[in-house]
Amino acid sequence: MSSINNVFEYEKDSQGIVTVTMNMTGPVNAMNAEYRDAMQATIEKLQAEDGLTGVVITSAKKVFFAGGDLNELLAAKPGDEAAFFAMVEKIKSQLRALERLPVPVVAAINGAALGGGFEICLACNYRVAVDSPAVSLGLPEVSLGLLPGGGGIVRMVNLLGLEAALPYLLEGKKADAGRALAAGLIHATVADQSQLVPAAKAWIASQVDNPDAALQPWDHKGHKIPGGSAGSPKLAQLLAIAPAMLAQKTRGLLPAPEKILDCAVEAARLDFDTALRKEGRAFTELVMTPEAKNMITTFFFQLNKINAGASRPDNIAPHTVKKLGVLGAGMMGQGIAYVAAKVGIDVVLKDISMAAAEKGKAYSAKLVEKQVARGRLDLAGAEALLARIQPTERDQDLAGCDLIIEAVFEQIDLKNKITLGTEQYLSDDGFWGSNTSSLPITQLAEASAHPEKFIGIHFFSPVDKMPLVEIICGKKTSDETLARAFDFVRQIKKTPIVVNDSLAFFTSRTFSTYLDEAARMVVEGIHPVVVDNLGKAVGMPVGPLTVHDEVSLELTRKIHQTWADMGVENQWGEHDAMAEIIKTLVVEHGRGGKHYNGGYFDYGDQGKTIWPGLLDKYFDGGNATPEQDIKDRLLFRQVIETLKCLESGVLRSVADANIGSIMGIGAPVHTGGFVQFINTYGLERFRARCAELADAYGERFKCPAIVSEKIERAETFN
Ligand code: NAD
Repeated sequence: MSSINNVFEYEKDSQGIVTVTMNMTGPVNAMNAEYRDAMQATIEKLQAEDGLTGVVITSAKKVFFAGGDLNELLAAKPGDEAAFFAMVEKIKSQLRALERLPVPVVAAINGAALGGGFEICLACNYRVAVDSPAVSLGLPEVSLGLLPGGGGIVRMVNLLGLEAALPYLLEGKKADAGRALAAGLIHATVADQSQLVPAAKAWIASQVDNPDAALQPWDHKGHKIPGGSAGSPKLAQLLAIAPAMLAQKTRGLLPAPEKILDCAVEAARLDFDTALRKEGRAFTELVMTPEAKNMITTFFFQLNKINAGASRPDNIAPHTVKKLGVLGAGMMGQGIAYVAAKVGIDVVLKDISMAAAEKGKAYSAKLVEKQVARGRLDLAGAEALLARIQPTERDQDLAGCDLIIEAVFEQIDLKNKITLGTEQYLSDDGFWGSNTSSLPITQLAEASAHPEKFIGIHFFSPVDKMPLVEIICGKKTSDETLARAFDFVRQIKKTPIVVNDSLAFFTSRTFSTYLDEAARMVVEGIHPVVVDNLGKAVGMPVGPLTVHDEVSLELTRKIHQTWADMGVENQWGEHDAMAEIIKTLVVEHGRGGKHYNGGYFDYGDQGKTIWPGLLDKYFDGGNATPEQDIKDRLLFRQVIETLKCLESGVLRSVADANIGSIMGIGAPVHTGGFVQFINTYGLERFRARCAELADAYGERFKCPAIVSEKIERAETFN
């Protein structure tokens, strides 16, 4: 066996087939300078090889190939375009040379091949994969604000046709081996890894008399794109509406999907090599955008850091929960029971009556039924999952739980009573989690005999879909309890952010400023529909009035009441405007939200319309607040609140702030989160804009001191 730059192992067998095994320095194979050199040398060697009959490309790593080198992409700056484009062209020309070798080339896919990894596979004549859960194929670049720049768009469109390729390109849809085979992304699967290279070689051997086996479909004379070229009548119809549909989704804030659509259409119109060049140019432009930098920073580097345990105390042995108690089988409790049972944890689901507990379990039954119907879960798996959830009304059944999470009504007395009455059932080293969304953990922990084992584990609704969990440490919570809570959240495959105790923690506290600023603007006389629409225009998933109606104005009323009872009202600044709105809508008119007789909006069969009483009372046609100010008020309030959490130590890291704001609050994805937003906006510019807003609208827009400190040290938020 010989080896190229030590990283691409090169082995020719007696049949003339060369197997190239990618085994790059570092934990994964990635498209960096080392790759480009090794690929170049490999291609040249293959081109010169005597008696070559075929090539198999495979990997010595667990992951077939990880994709682009994100450090390299992050480092590329405006001004580097020419060099970057030349580098992309080099990658493309190598893959083009690979697929133009006069012999068949096979990708033998042993693990995940996403992004650049899948682009290598697409440049092979034949693709065979192990039918294992470790295999995941696709082009997820769009989720990092990028596009597949190694020929992925052009080859996918030529392989599947424009319409079928778009979900993979625009949504980053991934496929396991079975689905990839059904969709035509690969040609064959094998049951296990030992059969992989033999299967690849057997296919090559079976093609000795077929010269076409070495030709890609798009290099065949007279190749026609499946479904037709961009000019065909059927596609013309799709293309007439596609940009508008896309703009509705991106609201013009995300350049990547727009460029992807553009390149895909061009791939269905231009000749292959011209389309490749166009794709390379678009990729170069995207790499330089702030949106791509933000998304790579947050969704790749910071998310990985968090999931790898940056916020978990060191030197504490990993812990797994085997038996979980869930108190309260309502909306949250039933979801928590489901996600735990799904990963194999035994769950005791307790409510005040057996009927209520069983109703909670029925939620899981409904979810697994759906999955069985879609072929995502077999019957045995469904039964096993449900068998792990034991509904009960008896406290004694909690005996031996290594974690109990309470998700009963949001009442401090009730929560205290439950803690006192049931924590005795925890196993000796068990710990206690509260899913409260607004009550201080330190105060709740006072009811416990072991406040060091008491922690907040704040889920988001619906629990089975939302990827984030906010872990809240009370004053006395021990590092060991934090480490265990962290391990539990990873065990149920969610992302944990860790925050210190504060009224409404980080996510609810910051989210409430979005609702509060909107209420202020309504009371000031700005048209409520304008306020709601501009919330969406800045990139929030839902307008502030719509979302407040959904989570319910009634809930806000209750929380304000609880805080008043506890003497902590107005802790984060006055909320007179919100109090005014609650008084008008909920107290005077019984409008508690979408599910409570309507709220800001009336809900009819035709959709929602603004409640006329709101306009009668507050709307002022003469209000001339500039649109940009409305947008900035909605966004800056949340950014400023996040900064306050960061400077006061409620948030422990910038990564938690960014990931928490996107996954827990719905911060616009193109910003990379509420703190990364400031890096891109510019710290000095941000401080100046805060000053303008504070002059015009009040002290709550005063720029937190942490920004000036960073400016003085010439730092950004990392
Ligand atoms: P819910 O009203 O849907 O469910 C509460 C359940 O607790 C009910 O089934 C009730 O019968 C049960 N219960 C009451 N007393 C009990 C007792 N003594 N023993 C056992 N069960 C008892 O409420 P929910 O929306 O699931 O909220 C539960 C908790 O989660 C609250 O603290 C809430 O603030 C928090 N939370 C809610 C959300 C959300 O979006 N709904 C999000 C995060 C956190």
